[in-house]
Amino acid sequence: MISVAQPLLGRAEEEAVLEVIRSGQIAQGKHVEAFERCFAKTCASDEAVAISSGTAALHLALLAHNVGPGDEVITTPFSFAATANVIILVGALPVFVDIDPDTYTMHPDLIEAAISTHTKAIMPVHLYGHPCAMKPLLEIAKKYHLAVIEDACQAHAATIEGQPVGSFGTGCFSFYATKNITTGEGGMLTTNDPAIAERVRMMRSHGQKERYKQGHHGS
Ligand SMILES: *Cc1c(COP(=O)(O)O)cnc(C)c1O
Repeated sequence: MISVAQPLLGRAEEEAVLEVIRSGQIAQGKHVEAFERCFAKTCASDEAVAISSGTAALHLALLAHNVGPGDEVITTPFSFAATANVIILVGALPVFVDIDPDTYTMHPDLIEAAISTHTKAIMPVHLYGHPCAMKPLLEIAKKYHLAVIEDACQAHAATIEGQPVGSFGTGCFSFYATKNITTGEGGMLTTNDPAIAERVRMMRSHGQKERYKQGHHGS
């Protein structure tokens, strides 16, 4: 068998896992917080919120941006199935735009023709570590007041002219076993919008800001 990816997990990772197990605090805690701060810095984003998977990060990003039934989200068909699946999961419709044959990412020249009165967001995918052309995409998003949710599940720390992916819109990352960085299973959401960060922090934990005090994440 030829493995698709060989995770580099050595002594340092073994010791870090043991430290967490021995601490007795095996969910959230100081290590997760440190990882969030470090990841936010890497992505030049104000906030990073640790989530259970890349799929869950994309799901919460859509909910945080109020995407739901009747809405359309423009994305690419050339991606892992999770990208289109989460759009359907929130009751919205994925509208596919073809890829640029040179980069395999969403072709910016084809986005505008796919916009309708139901369009709520654009979800570009930074595939195989290659960022989607964000400059023209952001101009279109601004013109039509659309949310931008970046599927950066395969592109940790990739940059466009020095600016990291995940800092152009709401960024979603995966730490699944085959990704650029792994935690086994895991995900992260990055944002510069404190309101989005707060909603996602509540939603990842059943509406809790403080333990056992449930609130509502509505805007
Ligand atoms: C892996 C991947 C996801 C989903 O991430 P999980 O952590 O496996 O849920 C979403 N989009 C793309 C492009 C991916 O490669």
